[in-house]
Amino acid sequence: MTQSLFELEQNNAFIGRHIGPTEQDVADMLAVVGAESLDDLIRQTVPANILNDQPLGIGASRTEVEALSYLKSLARQNKVNKSYIGMGYHDTHVPLVIQRNVLENPGWYTAYTPYQPEIAQGRLEALLNFQQLTQDLTGLDLASASLLDEATAAAEAMALAKRVSKNKKANIFFIADDVHPQTIDVVRERAEHYGFEIVVAPADAVVEHEVFGALFQYPSTTGQIRDIKGLIEKVQSQKGIACVAADILSLVLLKAPGELGADVVLGNAQRFGVPMGYGGPHAAFFATRDAHKRSLPGRIIGVSKDTRGKPALRMAMQTREQHIRREKANSNICTAQVLLANMSSFFAVYHGPEGLKRIANRVHRLTDILALGLQSKGVALKHDTWFDTLTVVTADKDAIVARALAKGANLRTDLDGALGVSLSETTSRADVAELFDIFLGEGHGLDVETLDTRAAAGTDSIPVELQRDNAILTHEVFNKYHSETEMLRYIHKLEMKDLALNYGMISLGSCTMKLNATAEMVPVSWPELAQIHPFAPLDQTQGYQQMIAELEDWLVKVTGYDAICIQPNSGAQGEYAGLLAIKKYHESRNEGHRDICLIPSSAHGTNPASAQMANMKVIVVACDKQGNIDMADLKSKAAEAGENLSCIMATYPSTHGVYEENIREVCEVIHSYGGQVYMDGANMNAQVGITSPGFIGGDVSHLNLHKTFAIPHGGGGPGMGPIGVKAHLAPFVAGHAVVKTDKESRDNGAVSAAPFGSASILPISWMYTALLGDEGLKRSTQLAILNANYLMKNLAEDYPILYTGRNDRVAHECIVDLRPLKEASGISEMDVAKRLNDFGFHAPTMSFPVAGTLMIEPTESESKAEIDRFIFAMKQIREEIRQVENGTWTLEDNPLVNAPHTQDDVMDNEWNRAYSRELAVFPSADVRRSKFWPTVNRIDDVFGDRNLFCSCLPTEAYGE
Ligand SMILES: *Cc1c(COP(=O)(O)O)cnc(C)c1O
Repeated sequence: MTQSLFELEQNNAFIGRHIGPTEQDVADMLAVVGAESLDDLIRQTVPANILNDQPLGIGASRTEVEALSYLKSLARQNKVNKSYIGMGYHDTHVPLVIQRNVLENPGWYTAYTPYQPEIAQGRLEALLNFQQLTQDLTGLDLASASLLDEATAAAEAMALAKRVSKNKKANIFFIADDVHPQTIDVVRERAEHYGFEIVVAPADAVVEHEVFGALFQYPSTTGQIRDIKGLIEKVQSQKGIACVAADILSLVLLKAPGELGADVVLGNAQRFGVPMGYGGPHAAFFATRDAHKRSLPGRIIGVSKDTRGKPALRMAMQTREQHIRREKANSNICTAQVLLANMSSFFAVYHGPEGLKRIANRVHRLTDILALGLQSKGVALKHDTWFDTLTVVTADKDAIVARALAKGANLRTDLDGALGVSLSETTSRADVAELFDIFLGEGHGLDVETLDTRAAAGTDSIPVELQRDNAILTHEVFNKYHSETEMLRYIHKLEMKDLALNYGMISLGSCTMKLNATAEMVPVSWPELAQIHPFAPLDQTQGYQQMIAELEDWLVKVTGYDAICIQPNSGAQGEYAGLLAIKKYHESRNEGHRDICLIPSSAHGTNPASAQMANMKVIVVACDKQGNIDMADLKSKAAEAGENLSCIMATYPSTHGVYEENIREVCEVIHSYGGQVYMDGANMNAQVGITSPGFIGGDVSHLNLHKTFAIPHGGGGPGMGPIGVKAHLAPFVAGHAVVKTDKESRDNGAVSAAPFGSASILPISWMYTALLGDEGLKRSTQLAILNANYLMKNLAEDYPILYTGRNDRVAHECIVDLRPLKEASGISEMDVAKRLNDFGFHAPTMSFPVAGTLMIEPTESESKAEIDRFIFAMKQIREEIRQVENGTWTLEDNPLVNAPHTQDDVMDNEWNRAYSRELAVFPSADVRRSKFWPTVNRIDDVFGDRNLFCSCLPTEAYGE
């Protein structure tokens, strides 16, 4: 019978495109794992008492065309005004060669954090350029490779100041009152939990306090360029640490804060070619003195060398970071903003020092013209120095703002008796003429050309002593790629060094590297979403509000919670936000003494690091032989904590990759002592549609939208870590000092600079949810579990699987234990990881959560063919290990310890290894057909940390 039109119209093809295996594959894989159906597999795998067979209630899956056209209709409800709001966010021209080849290129956006540096030299180089850019502009010698935003970078600066200040008795952190308000908000909130005292006062008042650190804004939030040298000296004279939040474009013209003596300089790199995106994502920069290197927060890229002595880049000094140091880490930062840091560094490479000066000088000239014109009409300006921002004193705010809005322009309105106006790279002469109309009304008779003649004759709006007098960006990389052809090829050359999802599976356990569908990514570049200032009036952002409300509603359904706080910019920030909600809840019940946080030994490093930031005492709970939370230990530690128990942080399914049978009991034990249950939601990919943290008994969880909900990892960020909470915690989630929503929590302190975090990537998760609907979301979870169990079953023939749950099943990931093999052969998990590179695979998660293991998560998006290819590689590798075990190869001379192999290896005149060149680089027929070449040999980590070098190397050093 022919199909009806209705049947022909049923199109949920996206589900089949998101999910790798076909119906036939599913049948075959079920047979291998020994389950009758997907439902049967789930019943065998997931404890019955947490299975929830209620539909999610999100609705049917939508087609890409439907979802995109609806989302476009929402986006159109945003009003894209010209933004003169400033406050750290400015319009910018994203160079199209960067937009198309980095922001919109899966070769860049689907990569993972460069923990496997041999296959990540491209993005490591782009990040090293970012560090060099930061060093040049700030005048300090050590920079990190990006933080989440300017406000949290300032909070990190405060934490660094406390660590390194020699004034150990001081407990005050001073913030000049002309720092951006959202920064003050975030730092104040952070300080409260660290137990620091915050003083916000006019900058000069810093002399009146004994401080361990102080923060100044340069130029100030209202645009003034003040000589902060004297203030910095005052802070340092009492052994305090002087921190400066600076505007990146102004630094092109201004004397570097480092030269003025600052100890820490930080800021937002957004206006270097990254759209405002209604708040993000963009990268913060952070620089300090070399002396404070061990206290630096976040990732640092360093130059080391590989086994051939060739320079090679890697993440340096990881022993500072949460994944190693846990609650003693400098910060909880994990995911940061790598993709955006790369965009900003490419922006600098593209424009070079001359191009950047032209941009900065043009913005400044137009500001001079605006100032001269306004002053000539008797308008008072608050300051007599400026770079791009004027604060206009006026009794006539409402009329001016009304004229601005009528012309589609947003001014800064939150100042008493004044309006702010910040110009940007996108401001034109015509815009300045329009600003005259806005401030003065029509008929003012001012003429931009005439004013320009006066401005060009010279102004003292940047005091001479604060003008930059040294060259910036002298390194070759910033002076070479100015034609579009050269730029295109430089971007591509770096991309080719990196293994991203567009090449092959990245089976990183706990990281859920699934498909980032093109339809999900497309809205990110829409101007209606990209060109919106985070503090634009709410009535101009109705499309965003509606999209966020819908996404929140879906996330409520998915998590089983009552409310969502969308603000945190990463999983770790979500943890911090969630723990603060717990803390404030206890305080609201006069139980502020509850400060003990139980954390199972298997937890991700961010958990203890975040608990420390919330000023909780971390008590580690043991795991039993099966990898589950040891119930006896849990009960005794909970009892011991008693009325001081604040919460537990538990990951579900556990980071050991199994659904613990006792999870409900865990929740009950904690609740029975009045504690709260924080469930780390990084593993939601094993829950969506079949159970939920709220259903299980959690009180709060963060969701890694950059794991389960399809936001790409960007080579180490962006991410989004919204939290879901039960109703009793909803009043205690983050608010915002500048943007007031109608939520009960609106007046709480903020955890991010922007009210809705990195709003412009939320459409990715919105699209993901809309495209899959109830059916596709549930099926994705089922397939994630099937793929993992299929993989596990095949690998178990050759490798011990560390933990399994009921019926010998794993959840959505599995841990392969390489310790027994290492014992027998000397071959380590590192050797296996690097040998996988020769096969064209990214290594799985190495030595987390258990040292000496690999944790593998295929996700639902990988096809059976790709998983089979991976299984084949792992079996070949097992054979190779056997040859070491049985003495065919020595431990020093075999393809595992020498992996990864490079073109340099095969080009050696002499090949005197115990195995062939062919085996080295073409270990399978498949690889021969399509070879990914690691560009460096194995990198020497110890050398890199001992000889820390974090700036760009001269090209000759690479022997090019
Ligand atoms: C990824 C992850 C986190 C941290 O998320 P970020 O976004 O990188 O900060 C926390 N917990 C677990 C279990 C994770 O896998």
